[in-house]
Amino acid sequence: MSEKFLLKGISSTAMHAAGHKNAEDAHLTPIFATSTFTFDTAEDGMDRFAGTDKTRVYSRWGNPTFTAAEETIAALEAFGLKDDNGQPLQLKALLHSSGQAAMSTLFLSNLKAGDAILSHYSLYGGTQELMTKVLAATGIEVIIVDMRSLNLVSEALQQHPQIKLVHIETPANPTIQCVDIAAVTKIAKTKNVIVSVDNTFATPYLQQPFKFGVDYVFHSTTKFLNGHGTAIGGVLLGKDLEKMRTSVWKWHVLLGGNSNPFDAFLLAQGMKTLEIRMERHCANAQAVAAFLEKHPAIAQVNFTGLSSHPDHELCKKQMRLPGAVMSFELKGGLDAGKQFINQLQMCVRAISLGTVDTLVSHPASMSHFGIPREERLKYGITDGLIRLSVGIENIEDIIRDLDQALQ
Ligand code: PLP
Repeated sequence: MSEKFLLKGISSTAMHAAGHKNAEDAHLTPIFATSTFTFDTAEDGMDRFAGTDKTRVYSRWGNPTFTAAEETIAALEAFGLKDDNGQPLQLKALLHSSGQAAMSTLFLSNLKAGDAILSHYSLYGGTQELMTKVLAATGIEVIIVDMRSLNLVSEALQQHPQIKLVHIETPANPTIQCVDIAAVTKIAKTKNVIVSVDNTFATPYLQQPFKFGVDYVFHSTTKFLNGHGTAIGGVLLGKDLEKMRTSVWKWHVLLGGNSNPFDAFLLAQGMKTLEIRMERHCANAQAVAAFLEKHPAIAQVNFTGLSSHPDHELCKKQMRLPGAVMSFELKGGLDAGKQFINQLQMCVRAISLGTVDTLVSHPASMSHFGIPREERLKYGITDGLIRLSVGIENIEDIIRDLDQALQ
């Protein structure tokens, strides 16, 4: 594609931002299954070691298949945004082997012993454990508040000047609560504190946190970005290009959480259909939520697309559409939860989310089975809670399956 041709649409960006150039003129970026790269001469080697582009040295440092996926995600997160000088926003993405690996790079490259991190109380379990087990063990303090209260955020920053990073997950897993990215970032910036956002549930199609002045965006690419459940992966994006290429990149390669060429290839293919998948995911989810809300066996539906949800207005303010993950509470508790799950005929019993097919899980008997009841209740994981990641199947079939399982 010509560099002069400005891409105006998200799908075109997802398909063409990374370009199609490679030595063999392959249409798709090949799977560069190689651990290392050859140098023509010693001088060639020196140039590549000295340069900022480390994609052709050693695959823990970078690899052309990773670059294709990284450039696509960077283009999607920056789509239509401008930097402080009014120029198109430039981002640097670093692909990792998992969301957890990307999160480790984010936290460890920005925090040191004696610093503190501030975050919301509803977080993905792995993030919470990374904070409370790994960060805490390295002498980094973890401060958790309900970030939907801006007063609590201001108070925490006032009382703890050691806070160096504010980490927001919105919508949050598993409660689907939303945090006001613009408002929290504004408060954090009065204290020069770095802000990162976990954008996994939304994807750049539904929400672009860099628009609100944040410093980093994180994704578990395992979910909607890949879209087909074919690979675990994670990505960290930053707008301070120099820092991303030096200190953040250094932590990334030292921690060793690099991606691999096959998973990067699968991700690059999956992202090409992001826009049309998300449109269908969201339309289906809205219809499913409307169906569940009226069902007599259901006590409550947690979905920000419903006006009954406390974060409905905030979701409308910062997201294009409310996404496709929801949870609902069965009136019959644990037994009703297990029965419902066992009766499903088409929807798939599995944890994870963001795949093209509908995934349903019952945390009390699955992901949170080993956690004492009192403990999980504190996080809103009640006996009859069902989590649903609505897929892109035909909506009639999804609703028919849920309906028969609820009988
Ligand atoms: N963040 C969120 C919101 C998640 O849902 C997950 C996984 O479910 C992660 C981070 C961790 O990602 P991964 O499982 O790819 O390591």
